[in-house]
Amino acid sequence: MSIEAILSEIKKRERFLITTHMSPEGDAIGSALALAIALSSIGKRVSVCTMDPIPKILRFLPYSAIVRQIKGVDEWFDAVITVDCGDLERVGFLVKDKIPADVLINIDHHITNLGFGTLNFVAEAVAAAELVYQIIKKLGIPVTPEIATCIYTAIMTETGSFRYSNTTHHAFRVAEEMVSFGANPWVIAEQVYNRNSMGRIKLLGQILANLGVSDDGKISWIIVREQMYKDTGTAKEDVEDIINFPRSIEGVEVAVLFRESGHDWKISLRSNGRVDVSTLASEFGGGGHSMAAGCMIKGKSLEEVMRQVVTRVEKALPQ
Ligand code: 5GP
Repeated sequence: MSIEAILSEIKKRERFLITTHMSPEGDAIGSALALAIALSSIGKRVSVCTMDPIPKILRFLPYSAIVRQIKGVDEWFDAVITVDCGDLERVGFLVKDKIPADVLINIDHHITNLGFGTLNFVAEAVAAAELVYQIIKKLGIPVTPEIATCIYTAIMTETGSFRYSNTTHHAFRVAEEMVSFGANPWVIAEQVYNRNSMGRIKLLGQILANLGVSDDGKISWIIVREQMYKDTGTAKEDVEDIINFPRSIEGVEVAVLFRESGHDWKISLRSNGRVDVSTLASEFGGGGHSMAAGCMIKGKSLEEVMRQVVTRVEKALPQ
């Protein structure tokens, strides 16, 4: 789908709902806010709504207070725009065939994206925010320091602070442009990485105390029980990035996080490059990128879920 059709829809429409996936992280919130700030600056009426709250570490982002947490929509919009969502179900409060708008615009960078929009702008990009940046540029909207801060934060978090395989020349170029527009890398990194609560550090301790590794050392996993949040005064947002610890063990090919969510289990998969975890996640109804993907497994015991996932990962390991 060409970006032109989306630009023309945006130009002619007035009222927008911008949303993203559940458990939103830097790219999700950064993309949604950058687009919201840009569209508001040209006189559009914009609501930004998410199912889950903005993680505390992202509340420094400009205009983050405009994001409303909702469980359903009872208003009508000219257009709903999803950013960083590979699958409509990941929004949480939107239902296929009951979209509260004339048009659904899907802006995303996941290879597993299902193309669920009326208009889809799905392309390879370092982060969904890069696609948002392309739209802002093509609309001729000046990039303010606020917009630059949102886009820079999205790129910094999505590349794991410029360490993951998506840290290309191009990623640096977009980040550099954001700095030239007024994003401050030090201030942003301080906010995102140096504001841990004591509870999060205690949660980290509990999780790592029970880290598991397969006999051959190629698969490592961690488990998060809901009771752990109660013990440490934390929430699921505090689990963000902890999967990088099992992934960082020498010899590990795939790291898995099993996170309890009511009667279900949220699975995160990280690969060190030789296993395509997006394929694995897709088999369980999820998706993502080749080196970072996830899925939800409903109504099964932890033992059953672990058996299923670990067996599947074992099959995918390089011999
Ligand atoms: P995380 O493990 O941090 O939740 O997600 C890693 C990547 O996989 C992200 O790009 C995320 O959008 C994607 N992902 C995680 N869970 C799901 C899921 O249930 N469905 C789909 N389609 N993608 C997911």
